[in-house]
Amino acid sequence: LQTNVRIALQGSSITAVECAAQLEAGDESCRLLVPALANLHSHAFQRLLAGLAEFTDGHADDFWTWREAMFQVASHLDPTALYEVAVQLYGEMLAAGYSHVAEFHYLHQPHPLEMCQALTQAARDTGIGITLLPCLYQRGGFDGSALRAGQKLFYLQEQDFMDLLNALQPFTDEKTRLGWAPHSLRAVEPALLQRLSQQLSGWVCHMHVAEQRREVQDCLAATSRRPVEWVLENLPIGVHTCLVHATHVSAEETTALAASQACVSLNPSTEGNLGDGLFPLTSFLAAGGRFGIGTDSQSSISPVEELRWLEYGQRLKEGRRNVAAGLRGESALTLLEHCWASATAVLDRRIGRIQAGFCADLLELDDQHPLLIHHPRPLSAWLFSGNATLVRRTMVAGIWRASAGEAHFTRREAFAALLSRLYARL
Ligand SMILES: [Zn+2]
Repeated sequence: LQTNVRIALQGSSITAVECAAQLEAGDESCRLLVPALANLHSHAFQRLLAGLAEFTDGHADDFWTWREAMFQVASHLDPTALYEVAVQLYGEMLAAGYSHVAEFHYLHQPHPLEMCQALTQAARDTGIGITLLPCLYQRGGFDGSALRAGQKLFYLQEQDFMDLLNALQPFTDEKTRLGWAPHSLRAVEPALLQRLSQQLSGWVCHMHVAEQRREVQDCLAATSRRPVEWVLENLPIGVHTCLVHATHVSAEETTALAASQACVSLNPSTEGNLGDGLFPLTSFLAAGGRFGIGTDSQSSISPVEELRWLEYGQRLKEGRRNVAAGLRGESALTLLEHCWASATAVLDRRIGRIQAGFCADLLELDDQHPLLIHHPRPLSAWLFSGNATLVRRTMVAGIWRASAGEAHFTRREAFAALLSRLYARL
């Protein structure tokens, strides 16, 4: 951490960073300022599901039964409803310190372009940066089975998918970026996946992989390869690739995944909620792997909770402390530095550094909070002190978009009304 730093902004960007600076007239003073965080994995509509699938009624509950509840909620959404949920969600993300969201969007029907625009408009209105990742989702499983009723809203033919990407390109700007997302190996036929990966090479590409053990078994049965193994052997993987979850990987896959330079999106609150499993963080980091975090199913909208869960999961598994930090270092700083460093390549937007040429996406911590005011390690105090919101303000592209725990643009009543209508229909 550095002190007495002057950061010059022009428009949306950082133009200069001066160390050992003196406070001058016209300067705005911040005592605890860090880069804002990127949310690498979001399905906005799943915010509606929060708390609705936390009971059982006679069956053994797991990811696959949760998925049925998710299908049911998805069936009640149109572009207007998707906009309302995204405004609420993106506002909560801004208040928590996220300045940019990668929206992994598969809820296409019956209005594919309008559904995408609902998300980009919600991002514009709240001020959060977005990398929209329209998703290709065509089959029900590795066996090529047809989509089930609940999945048909996710379907696009190949040409319709390409047309959607083309139609969205004019809507991109400095804060609104575009990538693509083959949903998973189970949802896209391998030959098509390989062909589109070549066709869209250079694009940011995100894909779910190896979240569930059953998925690994099905992939082995269909291809004689484990999912990450198959991906690394058959797709052009690089710094613009973000593999989501990668929970169930062998030692060989872990090493190869780290060497591939792909970023792994870890979503510990969701992976805990769904009973997915624990990612082998220690060996991945030892091999030089890159990771970031995501809110995924939206059961938590807090980077603090994601990072704390990530570290605690490893501590519980390994029976020791300060796991992410390796042999020397501070857990909070190590975890945050990974999140900052991985963002730019998989979002197509320069964020995550306080450096000239980067976007002015910043997060100010509450330096007057008793936990932080004299703390020798404020980042550790932020991540490992509980659930009080220690984020004072979040800036996106040079503009403060949330302060005192609330986004500046909200539509809370509209969101509450949407939830009320949904609960009545479920
Ligand atoms: Zn996901």
